Amino acid sequence: MTSYAVDLLSDTLTRPSTGMRAAMAAAEVGDDVFGEDPTVARLEARVAELLGHGAGLFCPTGSLANQLGLRLHVAPGRELIADSMAHILRAELGAAASFSGITSRTWVSDRGRVTPEQALSMMVAGADIYHVPTALIALENTHNFGGGTILPLATIEAIRAGSQPHGVAMHLDGARLWNAGVAAGVELAAYGRLFDTVSVCLSKGLGAPIGSVLVGSAAAMREARVWRKRYGAGMRQVGILAAAGLYALDHNIARLAEDHARARRFADAVTEVAPVVDPAAVETNIVILELGGRPDTAADVVRGFADHGVRAYAIAPTRVRLVWHLDVDDAGTDLAIAAARAVFG
Ligand SMILES: *Cc1c(COP(=O)(O)O)cnc(C)c1O
Repeated sequence: MTSYAVDLLSDTLTRPSTGMRAAMAAAEVGDDVFGEDPTVARLEARVAELLGHGAGLFCPTGSLANQLGLRLHVAPGRELIADSMAHILRAELGAAASFSGITSRTWVSDRGRVTPEQALSMMVAGADIYHVPTALIALENTHNFGGGTILPLATIEAIRAGSQPHGVAMHLDGARLWNAGVAAGVELAAYGRLFDTVSVCLSKGLGAPIGSVLVGSAAAMREARVWRKRYGAGMRQVGILAAAGLYALDHNIARLAEDHARARRFADAVTEVAPVVDPAAVETNIVILELGGRPDTAADVVRGFADHGVRAYAIAPTRVRLVWHLDVDDAGTDLAIAAARAVFG
């Protein structure tokens, strides 16, 4: 395995800190399938409250939390609508169709920022002899493949106002909702309350080794708990992992602003040597370099960065993604900037 001086592949790479490991070691645990793990219960209640919901469900992955959320709202043969670059559709291996019989239609947006008109005009409210009725609108905030973009609260409010009267539910893939809240200065519950279910990841910028939480009403989470067990993800003394999540909530949310500032500093520096990113578009911890129109392919650029000790990710033939996180400091950012100057200069 190549080792890199600076690893910007993903914010999933963060490793549990010494303090987090101590919290894990000290965790009080029980059998969570029987509802007897007090640390899991504390984490679920805390995340539900943070997001303005009645109950939470601890899940091993964000994909599972999302897929449980989707299936609660969409019966087989009905549809969800979402962004063409949504993680639930692009990066969860067709789970909504394979597990839940869900039909999906997508809109194409500017870096994941759908407009209310776009989302609402796609919605099919009410059944007829041909059309698949829309049961769910799924949004993502921040938007991963859109480049960490923030969906403004006003946009979500307008989509909610237009869909709720038709009985169309809303799910938020909030894997990086923490980043949106910190960058936009919006309370997490203000976003959370606009959705029927929300998933959040503890294992990305927050630095926990494993874990996501799905939140919704108490009734919805009871149903999701049954499906989680049916999928084989009923876990036992998992308070050890929930303790890492609680530690992450206590220590690692506000500091996300540092990741955002470093990502922006990198984007500013890259713009000086090549017009491959608009720094104003870098709102959180993700930078996407758009190489379209340049002779370089994403693979070439990733190789160039690697030659300078920096790992980046080719997310498409002409797009390279770099993600800032807990384990990348100012010196690492300087190295990434030097690498970019060498690659593009
Ligand atoms: C990482 C991520 C997830 C969850 O991924 P897992 O690897 O299943 O934990 C969900 N949505 C988005 C937008 C993500 O970036």
